[in-house]
Amino acid sequence: EVRVRFAPSPTGALHIGGVRTALYNYLFAKKMGGKFLLRIEDTDQTRFVPGAEEYIQKSLEWLGISPEESPWNPGDCGPYRQSERKPMYMQYALDLVEKGHAYYAFDTSEELDAMRERLTAARVVSPQYNSITRTQMKNSLTLPEDEVKERLASGDPYVIRIKIPRKEEVRLNDMIRGWVMVHSNTLDDKVLMKSDGMPTYHLANIVDDHLMGITHVIRGEEWLPSAPLHVLLYKYFGWEDTMPQFAHLPLLLKPDGNGKLSKRDADKHGFPIFPMDWTDPNTGDKASGFMEEGYLPDAFLNFLAFLGWNPGDHREIFSLEELVEAFSIERIGKSGTKFDINKAKWFNEQYLRNKSDEELATFLIADVEKEGLTIDSKKAAQIAAIMKERATFPSDLWNEGKFMLIAPTSFDENIASKKWNSDVVIVLNAYKEKLVKDREEFTPERAKSLLEASAEENEIKFGKVMQAVRLAVTGVGAGPDLMAVFAIIGKEELAKRITFALE
Ligand code: GLU
Repeated sequence: EVRVRFAPSPTGALHIGGVRTALYNYLFAKKMGGKFLLRIEDTDQTRFVPGAEEYIQKSLEWLGISPEESPWNPGDCGPYRQSERKPMYMQYALDLVEKGHAYYAFDTSEELDAMRERLTAARVVSPQYNSITRTQMKNSLTLPEDEVKERLASGDPYVIRIKIPRKEEVRLNDMIRGWVMVHSNTLDDKVLMKSDGMPTYHLANIVDDHLMGITHVIRGEEWLPSAPLHVLLYKYFGWEDTMPQFAHLPLLLKPDGNGKLSKRDADKHGFPIFPMDWTDPNTGDKASGFMEEGYLPDAFLNFLAFLGWNPGDHREIFSLEELVEAFSIERIGKSGTKFDINKAKWFNEQYLRNKSDEELATFLIADVEKEGLTIDSKKAAQIAAIMKERATFPSDLWNEGKFMLIAPTSFDENIASKKWNSDVVIVLNAYKEKLVKDREEFTPERAKSLLEASAEENEIKFGKVMQAVRLAVTGVGAGPDLMAVFAIIGKEELAKRITFALE
């Protein structure tokens, strides 16, 4: 059975790259009839941010891609928070020490700094604790056995490091990148167990993926450099046979394609990169989210899915079920994907247009009521019907359509100076009279025939006065179909507005 996991660290708000990783894991699990798990990787207590975990949970709920097993809904291989699994890890680190693949190191931070300085002075590009430096440092491979025992017994602080082999080619077959080969002399003896008894990300991640039966690791490209170390760990634990397959997702790039997408880009260009609004509890900084900006969850998911994947044909609109059906890791690209907020807006527009007028009316009604006004649902649906083609967000229905409920108090001067003339006044007067007398149902067709008649009777060309008529009723020179607008505004209100405009 396929089992995949999303393994966020609760170090702040989940950003768009994180949700994409979650989505791809979800899609792959569903496609394969497997399970999607979530594990909280909180071994680095210094980077823990309160509220981050709840934020992750709510974001995935909003998108409808909640995991089947998680801290909030545990399955059989809990706990699902690494901090709660703490007692389990030491035995695995000790197992590696026993097998000769790991060792105790007693170096103080001053000693480590001194080593790095020495190497930097000798122009070593990336100073490492490795097969060469290890021989000069304080660890169980260089100190006499007795001293090691003594230090351990007396409670000297220590870490456990992996012993990276001297000359070995480490290979892995990434599902997206193909064969990746790394020489072991580029790797260093990473710490597996910290002096506070907490495992590092590397140890905890591998042990947990193994114990949780993870079959595929789908994660961001920033973890690719760690993958060779992970492969070695699987080998040293003797878990090669069940080692998961790796798939490293392409980077999300800045809108101009130059470098990695960051929160600063979002701020600079005025778009959200978080699923929901977020207030950093440490700094009080607020960041806007897609949800609050008015992105619809299904549209946002559709946009996310295309950040690195495509179905191989021209289709772009996919429901979550359709994404599951179409998804495959083979169709994920290798190269970085440019983040384009206009594409997100485009998806939102498509989804908005596909919603029924009644559904959209509920957004409009809520906004109207927020203003302390009222509107009946039939009228709200009529407004939604003519506004949805022009809206990007549900809030646009009210923001762009409020003129249908609120009469203008001023008029666009620029249009007025060009279009207002005596013909307009004649037509509007005639129209007003007809509106007051008319007894028929006031449909867009009726609104139009009365207006046409008002123009014709005075031998004025209807088309020539149209924009001024719009100006008189709405205050601006452009907008949705005017006769539909008139029908929504209604005869009486229309007559009132015309009277006001003629004053
Ligand atoms: N905790 C890591 C992160 O925050 C997980 C990386 C992985 O999936 O292995 O992204």
